[in-house]
Amino acid sequence: MLLISCPNCGSRDETEFHYGGQAHVAYPENPNELNDREWAEFLFYRDNTKGAFAERWLHSTGCRQWFNMLRDTVTYEIQAVYPMGAPRPAAAPPAAESGTASTAPDSTTTGTARPSIAATSTSTASRSTTAPEGATK
Ligand SMILES: [Zn+2]
Repeated sequence: MLLISCPNCGSRDETEFHYGGQAHVAYPENPNELNDREWAEFLFYRDNTKGAFAERWLHSTGCRQWFNMLRDTVTYEIQAVYPMGAPRPAAAPPAAESGTASTAPDSTTTGTARPSIAATSTSTASRSTTAPEGATK
């Protein structure tokens, strides 16, 4: 089981997340100038990296925010978690064959400490704003 550190919520079980594919796939600057092959490559062709791979993840049952993760596709080691729009951090050197302990155990919390923009949980807070009759002493 993978323990994923959401930049907004902290460490959560992987079942709370959805994989969103390769990160940093830039939309074409002039999509109308692409031929069909180039457009199809933008839509469907993705890297199949063995090793450190930047990918998008959605905390679907938590804060419902997207973020990026740098994960080793061989060892499943999460090397970094960073916000959308941030540049890809440098990959850690490949792990040794003997399976030694991780050299960067806390590297998953390197995202910038900007305030949370999640306001999805406030919709249910207005349910009981009026005090019941006779509530005062
Ligand atoms: Zn979250």
